[in-house]
Amino acid sequence: MSEAAAEVVRRDPDCLFCRIVAREIPSTRVTEDDLVIAIRDIAQRAPTHVLIMPREHIPSAADLTDAEATLLGRMFGTAAAIARAEGIAEGGYRIVTNVGAWGGQTVDHLHFHLMGGRPFTWPPG
Ligand code: 5GP
Ligand code: ZN
Repeated sequence: MSEAAAEVVRRDPDCLFCRIVAREIPSTRVTEDDLVIAIRDIAQRAPTHVLIMPREHIPSAADLTDAEATLLGRMFGTAAAIARAEGIAEGGYRIVTNVGAWGGQTVDHLHFHLMGGRPFTWPPG
C-alpha cells in the first residue's frame, strides 16, 4: 500500500487494536497483508486463539455493509489459512465475533476470534 493510500485508512487514535495495527503496542503477529492482521490473543482461551482484524478501524460487525465484502472474504480466508497452518482444520474450530456489551465485546475494533485445538460446547455461555 502506498503512503498516500495508508493515510486514508480509518483509524481511531484511542483504539487499542488500531495502536496494535500501527505497532505502537507490541503483539505476536501470525500473518498480515494489505487489509488484515492476525495476532495471538493475549489471554489464550484455547490452544490456538488468534485475532483476525482489519487494518482500518471498523467498530464491530454491526457496522459492515456490502462495501466490506472484499475485506470480509479476506478475514474468513485468513482464518481458514491460519487454521490449516496451525493443524486445527481437520478437527474443526470456531470463528466468533462479539458485538456490543451483551455480545461480550470488550475491544471496539472488529475482530474474529479463531479458536481451536480443543472441543467447544454449544451454545456458548
Ligand atoms: P472481545 O472481548 O472484544 O471479543 O475480544 C477482545 C480480545 O482482545 C480478548 O480476547 C482479549 O484477551 C484480547 N486483548 C485485549 N487486549 C489485548 C492486547 O493488548 N493484546 C492482544 N494480543 N490481545 C488483547
Ligand atoms: Zn481501531
